[in-house]
Amino acid sequence: MTDTSASSMLEPNDGQLHETHGETTSLNRDSEPLLGRGDPPPFTLLNENGQAPLVIFCDHAGRAIPRKLGNLGLTPGELAQHIAWDIGIANVAAILARNLDAPCVLSNYSRLVIDCNRRLDDPTSIAQESDRIVVPGNRGLDGLARAHRAEEIFKPYHFAVADLIKKKREAGPVTAILSLHSFTPVMNGFKRPWHFGVLWNRDARLPIPLMQRLAQLPHVVVGDNEPYSGRDEHGFSIIYHAEAQGLPHALIEIRQDLISDEAGVNRWTAKLETAVKGLLIDPTIFPQRK
Ligand SMILES: [Zn+2]
Repeated sequence: MTDTSASSMLEPNDGQLHETHGETTSLNRDSEPLLGRGDPPPFTLLNENGQAPLVIFCDHAGRAIPRKLGNLGLTPGELAQHIAWDIGIANVAAILARNLDAPCVLSNYSRLVIDCNRRLDDPTSIAQESDRIVVPGNRGLDGLARAHRAEEIFKPYHFAVADLIKKKREAGPVTAILSLHSFTPVMNGFKRPWHFGVLWNRDARLPIPLMQRLAQLPHVVVGDNEPYSGRDEHGFSIIYHAEAQGLPHALIEIRQDLISDEAGVNRWTAKLETAVKGLLIDPTIFPQRK
C-alpha cells in the first residue's frame, strides 16, 4: 500500500464532512441516517488537552451496534467475543491516557459494524465472517448501506484522531502515536504465550526501545511483530495517521485474559505505563525535550 492510497481514504471529502457532520452528507442525502436517537456517538475523546507528546487511539475499543442494525444476526454471546471488539482495551487506554496526560480517541462501535482499522475498500472492512462466525447482518449490503457506516462511524472517528494529531504537531516538535489493541489468548488451538505484542514495520524509533523496556519488566513476555505482523500492511490506522506522516509510532497488543477484570487492567496498564514513561523522557526519541 502506498501513502497516497492510504491518504485518499479520507482527504477528498475532509472539508465537506466537517461541515456536514451531524446533518446529511452527499452520500446519504436520499435516506435517513444510520445513527439515531439512543445510539452513542462514533467515538469518545478522552483527555483532549493532555500535554504529553503523544496521541493514543483504539480502533476496536467499543462494541456498540446502531439500533437500526439490531444485533447483526448474532447472539449476545457472539457479540461479547473478541470478534466484536478488543476486550479490555478501552479500560487500559483510559487509565494510560490519564496517567500519561495524553489525549486518546476510542471508537465506540463494534468492528463488525465497520472495522476502523481496515481500508474502506478492504473486503474485511465490513466483515461477512469473522473467526468462522458468519455475520448475517453484513451480507448483501448495497453501496448506500456501506456508505452510511463509513460516513457516520469510520470517518468521524478518524477525523477525531487526525484533529488531535494536527493540534499536537502544531504544539511541539515531535508527536508519537500509540495504537492500542487486545488479542485473544488462543487462536486456532494455539495458546499465545505473549503478554504484550509490539507490531511495527519500517520505523524502529518507538518499537525497539518499547520492546526493550517491556522485556525488562519481571515476568513479561513480549512479542516482536506477534501475534500479528505490522509488516503485512493489513491495518489502516497506523499507516494513515503515523507512517504516512513520518511520526514515531507503535501498535501495542495486550492479551485479553490479562485485562478481563479491573485488577488485571490495573496491573498490566501499570507495566505498559512504566515502559512508555521511559520512552517519553528518552532524548533520542524526543530530542527537544528534557
Ligand atoms: Zn484490535
